[in-house]
Amino acid sequence: MNAAHDTLLLIVADGVRPDVLKAALQAGELPHLAARAARGAFTEVSSCFPSVTGPAYAPFLMGKFPASVGLPGLRWYDRSRSRASWPSYARSYVGPEIRLLDDDLDHVPQTILELATSSIAGSTLLGRGARGARHPGRGWIWAARAFLPHFQGNLDGWRRIEQLVVDRVLRHLQRDRPQFAVMSFLTPDKYAHAFGAQSSSVRRSLRDVDDFVAEAEQIAKRDGWENKLHVWLVADHGHADVSNHDELADAMRDAGHRVLAHPRIWVRNPDVALMVGGNAMAHVYLEPKHRTRPWWPTLSDRWESLHDLLLARPSVDLAAVSLNDHTVRVSHQTRGCATITRTRNALHDTWSYVRVTGDPLELGIDLHNATSVQAHAACAATDYPDSVVQLADVAPSARAGDIMLSAAPGWDLRDKYEPTPHRSTHGALHRDQMMVPLIIDAPATGTPLRTADVMPSGLVRLGLQVPLGLDGLSWL
Ligand SMILES: [Zn+2]
Repeated sequence: MNAAHDTLLLIVADGVRPDVLKAALQAGELPHLAARAARGAFTEVSSCFPSVTGPAYAPFLMGKFPASVGLPGLRWYDRSRSRASWPSYARSYVGPEIRLLDDDLDHVPQTILELATSSIAGSTLLGRGARGARHPGRGWIWAARAFLPHFQGNLDGWRRIEQLVVDRVLRHLQRDRPQFAVMSFLTPDKYAHAFGAQSSSVRRSLRDVDDFVAEAEQIAKRDGWENKLHVWLVADHGHADVSNHDELADAMRDAGHRVLAHPRIWVRNPDVALMVGGNAMAHVYLEPKHRTRPWWPTLSDRWESLHDLLLARPSVDLAAVSLNDHTVRVSHQTRGCATITRTRNALHDTWSYVRVTGDPLELGIDLHNATSVQAHAACAATDYPDSVVQLADVAPSARAGDIMLSAAPGWDLRDKYEPTPHRSTHGALHRDQMMVPLIIDAPATGTPLRTADVMPSGLVRLGLQVPLGLDGLSWL
C-alpha cells in the first residue's frame, strides 16, 4: 500500500443520541474525539426511516436510503419469494439471517468498502466489500461467540467480544493500513435499550470508543502517517424512552386475522404478515399470498378498516400507504392525512406534500416540487425530520409493507419475545430516534444534512470518484 494514501476511519456509535455524545464531550470524558471535533465540527444530521440498525447503515456506507437498495426494515416479508425461503418467506436480521443482508442488497450500487482500494469493517451489519478476516465480528465463529451474550442479555459479555473486534481492526490498521476502515460499536445501543439512552452505561461505552481513537492515533503516529488519518464518527439512529409495548400481532389476531409475525412465522395461509423492527416501526403486508405488490386503491375496500383500527391504537402515531409507486398517503390519528409525491427527473428528483384532510407531519405548509435539500429544510423544525423524503422512499419500495406504521412517543410495537427488556427504543420517524451526531475532523464547505452525506463526502476525502444516483450529497 502506498505510504502517501489517506485513511478514513469511520466510527459508528450505534444508537448514540447527539445530546448524550455532546454531554460526554463537554464533560471531558472523550478527549480524543473532542480534539477531532475541535479541528472540524460536531453537528447533528438526520438518519433514515426506519431508524434502525442494519437498514440505517446503508446511508453512510452506500450513500443511499435503505429501501432503495432492498432493506425496507430490520424485518421484512418477501412477497416476491425471490430472497427469503419457504415456508415463511420472512426475513429477520435479528439472529443468523444477518449473514444474508449483504446479498439481499441491490447489487448495482457499490458500498464505500467496495469503492476504496482496501477496506476493513468491524462489526458492521452491512459489510459488502469486506470479506472474511476483513469483516471481524461477522461469520460463524463470531456468531458462536455472541450467541450466549445475546440470548442471556449479557451486555458485559458483548462488550468483551466488541473489544476482540476492536483488536482485529487495530491490527489491520497497523499491518496493512486500509484506505477505508469502519468500526461499529454496538454496545451503546444495547446499554441504551436495557438502561436508557442517558444511562451511565452508555457513557462508559463511549469511553471505549475514545480509547479506540487513541490507539488508532498511536499506530498512525508510530508509523508516520498521523497526518493521513481522518477520523469521523456517526450514529445510525437515536433513542427514546419507552414504557408501553403493544403486541401488535396479538391485536390483529384478536381482530380475526391469521398473522405471520416473528417468532411465530410458520403460519399456514396468513392474511397478514407483520414485520416489526426497531421496535418502533412496522411493515404490515396484506394478502401476502399474492407475489406482486398491490397499491392501496386495490386494497382499500377490504383493508381500510384494519388501517383505521391500527391508526386508532394509542401505540400508533403515523400510518403510510402507497397509492402508486410515487405517491404516499400518510395519516395521523387526530391530525388527518396528506399526500407525498415524488417526481423522478433526469437530474434531480423533487417532492411535494399536499395537506388533504389535515397536516399529519406538521409542516404547516404544502410543498410543491421541492428539492431534497428544500424538503429536508421544510421538515427541520418538526418532530419528523426528513419525513417527506423518507416516507416517499420507503413506503412505495418493492419490499415494503402495504401499511407502514411509526409508533407514538413512549410506545413500541412488540412486547413479548425480546431477550432484553426495552426501556428505550428506536425505529420511528420521531426526532429523538431520527437525529444522530456527526463528528468530522476537518471543516466542511457544505452543510451535512443526512447520514447519507457521509459516504460521498468520504469518497471525496479519499480522492475517489463519487458515483451518480446517490441520495446523499458531499459536504466537501
Ligand atoms: Zn437497537
